[in-house]
Amino acid sequence: MTTIDDLPIRDELRGQSPYGAPQLDVPVQLNTNENPYPLPEALVARIAERVAEAARHLNRYPDRDAVELRTELAAYLTRTTGHPVGRAQVWAANGSNEVLQQLLQTFGGPGRTALGFEPSYSMHALISRGTGTGWISGPRNEDFTVDLDAAVATIAERRPHVVFVCSPNNPTGTAVEADTVLALYEAAQAARPSLVIVDEAYVEFSHRASLLPLLEGRPNLVVSRTMSKAFGAAGLRLGYLAADAAVVDAVQLVRLPYHLSAVTQATALACLEHTDTLLGYVERLKAERDRLVDALRGLGLEVTDSDANFIQFGRFADTHAVWQAILDRGVLVRDNGVPGWLRVTAGTPAENDAFLDAVRFVIKEL
Ligand code: PMP
Repeated sequence: MTTIDDLPIRDELRGQSPYGAPQLDVPVQLNTNENPYPLPEALVARIAERVAEAARHLNRYPDRDAVELRTELAAYLTRTTGHPVGRAQVWAANGSNEVLQQLLQTFGGPGRTALGFEPSYSMHALISRGTGTGWISGPRNEDFTVDLDAAVATIAERRPHVVFVCSPNNPTGTAVEADTVLALYEAAQAARPSLVIVDEAYVEFSHRASLLPLLEGRPNLVVSRTMSKAFGAAGLRLGYLAADAAVVDAVQLVRLPYHLSAVTQATALACLEHTDTLLGYVERLKAERDRLVDALRGLGLEVTDSDANFIQFGRFADTHAVWQAILDRGVLVRDNGVPGWLRVTAGTPAENDAFLDAVRFVIKEL
């Protein structure tokens, strides 16, 4: 049988593993930071209407520049952050993963490097490698905050072309202070003009404000966002960025023509019409997140402060065995490979109760 190893693939892909969060059919799935609430029926009906309208024109390519969608995304950002953003400063793609890929194709690539502070979202490294960009793993403190002195020293020494700042950080839930981002940006610009990407996939769940206002006067700063989490639309595949309009112009050089289908654009626009309802679910999830943090601490476990819709908890001598034992109770959480720690996504109150019951049972057995 032919295997990957027999194929003439790129050398740097040899021996690598694909992104692979398990998709198991278990009763309680709290492993991929999805929103547990299905879209409301009124929105489902509106999507059907908007998609039907789009279907009447599917013989044509979609709006290549997604003008209406970018206008609405810019309005959403302006309204929720108080920082004025226009259509020209917003770009959208199929999930923020594609946004990040386009950024790396434009600002990274062969002979260039990207730096991230790990543990962090594993796709930052994977997309870097996939675009031929060298990956530099930067340090964090014991409490998973960014070790600023060490980070600045790494930037000065390694002079990366791209710097990732994930806030709130996946898988730890840690938010990054605006001052830290500013210091990293200054250090990165001093080393060479490099792109700093703030990945705000989870920012709607944060206790803190978005870092979007930092874009002012910083043309090499990008904020990336997604509709997969707060908007409860992971299946839609819609991510976006805000940055200087020149960055939006730059990614045009690598984006595939008509990359965002008319169906995707229509669906995303329908979701944006229902922003207020969807953000109401975010409030519920934040309350559930805080309840889970308290409950896990009450059980004597360590919990990393969370600004996201998920929680890192531990510490366990045999992390994988605990993951399996919780799974055996019908609850799927995530083992991100951070020694001693697991990650759970905040679900519905009933799902969270099932998770807490499973944890209570499992830690009794430890
Ligand atoms: N950034 C972070 C930090 C994430 O955790 C995720 C999804 N898990 C993404 C980006 C990508 O999300 P999507 O492609 O669904 O927008």
